[in-house]
Amino acid sequence: MDCLFCRIIAGEIPSKKIYEDEDVYAFYDIDPKAPTHFLVIPKKHITGPDAITEENCAVVGKIYAVIAKLAKELGLDHGYRVVSNCGEDGGQTVGHLHFHVLAGRLLSWPPG
Ligand code: AMP
Ligand code: ZN
Repeated sequence: MDCLFCRIIAGEIPSKKIYEDEDVYAFYDIDPKAPTHFLVIPKKHITGPDAITEENCAVVGKIYAVIAKLAKELGLDHGYRVVSNCGEDGGQTVGHLHFHVLAGRLLSWPPG
């Protein structure tokens, strides 16, 4: 298993876990880009946004529900941003689908 996030899910690499259920895992980003920055990922290995299909897309809805729940629990009342980078131009560096949740400061738009 050479996928970093699969190894985090398996507990082989430590992470600051926020949430886990049978399909979804959430943990703080190791290099935060905002005062609150965590990642929400499917436990099943999906290589990225461009590998989402009709067959595997149910977990994406579940991930957004988890994000809304965690945002309430963490008190992100001023709002937050959900980002999923795809491919080289999108800035994706880890080949396991993940949703960044950024909060705690005013986020610029459009992103750089
Ligand atoms: P991306 O660049 O969109 O593919 O996002 C990958 C994210 O994973 C980056 O924000 C990294 O800081 C984060 N990251 C890399 N390694 C770890 C790790 N061991 N624990 C937590 N976050 C990590
Ligand atoms: Zn993986």
